[in-house]
Amino acid sequence: MSTPQHLILVTHDQEGHATGLLPAEADAPQLSVLDASATRGDGVFETISVGSGHPQALDAHLDRFARSARMLDLPEPDAGLWGDAVHAIAEALAGHEEAWVKTVISRGIEGGSTPTGWAYGSVSPDFRRERTEGVAVALLDRGLRSDVAETAPWLLAGAKTLSYAVNKAAVREAQRRGADDALFVSSDGLLLEGPTSTLIVLHDRALVTPPAALGILPGTTQHDLFGAARDWGLDARVDVLRPDDLRAAESAWLVSSLRLAAPIRAVDGAATPVDAGLTAAMNGFLRSRRS
Ligand code: PLP
Repeated sequence: MSTPQHLILVTHDQEGHATGLLPAEADAPQLSVLDASATRGDGVFETISVGSGHPQALDAHLDRFARSARMLDLPEPDAGLWGDAVHAIAEALAGHEEAWVKTVISRGIEGGSTPTGWAYGSVSPDFRRERTEGVAVALLDRGLRSDVAETAPWLLAGAKTLSYAVNKAAVREAQRRGADDALFVSSDGLLLEGPTSTLIVLHDRALVTPPAALGILPGTTQHDLFGAARDWGLDARVDVLRPDDLRAAESAWLVSSLRLAAPIRAVDGAATPVDAGLTAAMNGFLRSRRS
């Protein structure tokens, strides 16, 4: 991501209630070295796309921010104040067709009870190549069974926590294998999600995505695409998928808020079909969202 240009601190009291917004210098030091975000990755975040000043899927992002916070026993984020912070940064970026705002809340200074919150944003990188040429993916074992969310909720599978070191390591491993991105598979053989994206597969005129109950993040981009599927004459459903389903798919995508729909062009080195027309329609729809 590019250098942050706009920053707003979301201040909190010791009870964990948000108390206000404080615009701050993005280039100046703001975070204590004792903050749990830095020392333990103990917090949650959201990344929201902004199209010409309009935050996209903001309500869904704020709902998921609250869901992640609950999973970590953090105080409930104040949707009103966080929404105001996102809108203020989005407005400052209104001159750009594609930008982003990230919201972060951590457990705060170690030993204290005051969460640390901030929102910042900048201009998005250029994703045209990924959106048109597509991405090659490597299937990587996540090492967790598909029932992990139920049997081991303390592993926080499906929460958007600040601890993305594993997700980043997975992308590096995928690159070592000659791919662009990773696609996680559960230890019992079900397709899950990318390190920063949701899987959608086209099969028999239906868009299919794996259930969030497998311990994956419920995607806001996937949700919006499923809402528009009928416009493209497609059904949409949530279902378990296996690697062979992906290899046999008519087309497949990794979708996410900033990169949008990146068609999968190869799986473990074997080429897979890309539907350029449908991909363009998806990305046109996603980019035109005004809320
Ligand atoms: N899954 C993971 C693990 C993610 O980190 C992300 C986004 O960063 C997604 C899925 C896609 O979610 P969204 O479409 O809401 O950006």
